Amino acid sequence: MPIATVNPANGETIKTYDALSEEETERRLATAESTFRTYRTSSFDERARLLRRAADLLDEDTDAVARVMTTEMGKPVGQARAEAAKCAKAMRWYADHAAELLADEEPDESDVKDSGASRVLVRYRPLGPVLAVMPWNFPLWQVIRFAAPALMAGNVGLLKHASNVPQTALYLEDLFHRAGFPEGCFQTLLIGSGAVEGVLRDPRVRAATLTGSEPAGRSVASVAGDEVKKTVLELGGSDPYIVMPSADIDRAAKTAVTARVQNTGQSCIAAKRFIVHTDVFDAFTERFTEGMKALKVGDPMEEETDVGPLSSKQGRRDLEELVVDAVEGGATVLCGGVRAEGPGWYYPPTVLTGVTREMRVLREEAFGPVATLYRVADLDEAVAVANDSPFGLSSNVWTRDATEVDRFVRDLEAGGVYVNGMTASHPAFPFGGAKRSGYGRELSGHGIREFCNITTVWHG
Ligand code: NAP
Repeated sequence: MPIATVNPANGETIKTYDALSEEETERRLATAESTFRTYRTSSFDERARLLRRAADLLDEDTDAVARVMTTEMGKPVGQARAEAAKCAKAMRWYADHAAELLADEEPDESDVKDSGASRVLVRYRPLGPVLAVMPWNFPLWQVIRFAAPALMAGNVGLLKHASNVPQTALYLEDLFHRAGFPEGCFQTLLIGSGAVEGVLRDPRVRAATLTGSEPAGRSVASVAGDEVKKTVLELGGSDPYIVMPSADIDRAAKTAVTARVQNTGQSCIAAKRFIVHTDVFDAFTERFTEGMKALKVGDPMEEETDVGPLSSKQGRRDLEELVVDAVEGGATVLCGGVRAEGPGWYYPPTVLTGVTREMRVLREEAFGPVATLYRVADLDEAVAVANDSPFGLSSNVWTRDATEVDRFVRDLEAGGVYVNGMTASHPAFPFGGAKRSGYGRELSGHGIREFCNITTVWHG
């Protein structure tokens, strides 16, 4: 895939970039390593001061960087501004909390005595340069979610961003540079996916985090495994959204629309499979379908647009194929299902019902505004249908029955259970998946400790 900005709203190529040469990549790896040697000794206060400065600069840049994101990957511009604001918040959260999250820990006195020590402490030390392979769908957020904790922990970052968001990738490097981070603390490598293996095998790179599809995750984790390097994988999802009879059906249906079409449906944690109890299936389906039909699809630069184009021609083709496969297998289209003619990679909000296990859409990730509905007889069937997926990122349940909530929390195979609401990440809570949605956690204390050398210090 060429490294280029191509506007998904009209297919126009705006700018192409040459990939870094091997010499330039080598220079950047050397800079990362030499910067790490000194940056690792900086204080939490100093790192926090720089990160807060980066957050302030991002706030000042919000309108401009939002337009860049929208131009590169097509998200509605209001959502792009909200993404920038969320990044600034996460940076401030880690600036405020990292020292406490990574403070030395003292084991129980009885255990210290038992080991024959006079004193023991556990210290979280940084690992070194970490490679971040990132996707285009939240082109700022996915990177900041990695970079803010990594920099606060004393690591340095090397970003290999998706090839269709080079301007956002270069903006991020510039942001940290302007904030005053030493050169080499955060560098963007404009390289294709074929060059990732060489960088990952380089001994100066100590670990890797990848957010993206399952094939990309498998490939990076295999190389990292071969090199005995730690990885965190945040992969795809096909999150269930379960609605039980006691739920507030109006709210559940309204939230379901947002949960499905946020970011034009191209979100790992979008609700994708709507599993509805038979007693409320018709009422929910009617309200949800009306909500999907009422969305305004159009130019992502217009403030009132709800749903923009998909990020790429291939992305639209993949989504269309899933819908065609389901319809040919007997699924019913309640709205959408046919792409509009004209420029841009638009696809209409679509609702499918009558989906069976033979259809690809049940097993694969529908990365666009396509919802599938499933009618279930009771809680047990709801759990079984929800877990009948290779993915396990997050899950949503709508019920006012506390016993049902307990059952869902006990039984749903996912990294999150959101009750009477939609999945949304927050810097203070761990984020990550189970099954083929990946492993490891980002955000919160769990996230910042992923790339630390957890060191036992024992005094005789
Ligand atoms: P993708 O094609 O897997 O690309 C993600 C990144 O991996 C890009 O930088 C890509 O580079 C690189 N890449 C692709 N194949 C690679 C390989 N074999 N070796 C090394 N690097 C490789 O995914 P995407 O289309 O950008 O993003 C959509 C996917 O990300 C969806 O499945 C979505 O659910 C998932 N996602 C997950 C989360 C989460 O937190 N769990 C969050 C957001 C998105 P190129 O662009 O150069 O190919």
